[in-house]
Amino acid sequence: MRFAIFGDIHGNLEALEAVLAECSANNVDQYLCLGDIVGYGANPNECVERIREIGALAVSGNHDHAVIGAQNLNYFNAHARDAVIWTAKHLSQESKQWLKGLSLVEHLPDFNIVHGSLHSPELFYYVQTIKDADYNFRQMDRPLLFLGHSHYPLAFFDTAPMTYTLDPVIPLDLSVKTVVNAGSVGQPRDEDPRSCFVIYDDDSSLVELMRVEYDIESAARKILEVGLPQTLALRLTLGK
Ligand code: ZN
Repeated sequence: MRFAIFGDIHGNLEALEAVLAECSANNVDQYLCLGDIVGYGANPNECVERIREIGALAVSGNHDHAVIGAQNLNYFNAHARDAVIWTAKHLSQESKQWLKGLSLVEHLPDFNIVHGSLHSPELFYYVQTIKDADYNFRQMDRPLLFLGHSHYPLAFFDTAPMTYTLDPVIPLDLSVKTVVNAGSVGQPRDEDPRSCFVIYDDDSSLVELMRVEYDIESAARKILEVGLPQTLALRLTLGK
């Protein structure tokens, strides 16, 4: 099976369409979404509709949680808060209803998916260091965990000592617990503005980090046109 695993789409339809086209070209069998489908970008409804159309198994992110009123806005910085308020206003009842139905964690035979952290998923902790990853290793009842939230793609290994890699091709040893951050489709922050996601092939035990170009100008222009904070448009072009 080939799984496309992606998240942090953040209402960026141009980026999502580019990723889905790349998935089709790569013979993906199943789509898994790591949450934050909405927030920041100008097309939250369209992104929710596309995720539903492709039948992706999705988990809820902190932005998805916030726009349905399930997350305290004090946890967000000013621009994120403005985006949550704008998104909540423009999201259809149907989209909100669907977001409400998402779980925080989903379980597959040899991996889990979560937005922030398997350790207290409702608190949306970031997994950015080996120590953060270690909290997750202790919670894992499967060899693999895919997550997002930091918008920074990398993988951690529960070896002795624990290690991490930024390599785009990650051969897996299922006897070693591994946490993979799939980066962000709609708002990359690792100074590479291209959309980011992973393909996991369980036959070859390989995780591949994919980067895809998309129409950044159009996504940024729409952010400005609808009156979302200017900085949210600018950061797309910078990839940070
Ligand atoms: Zn996010």
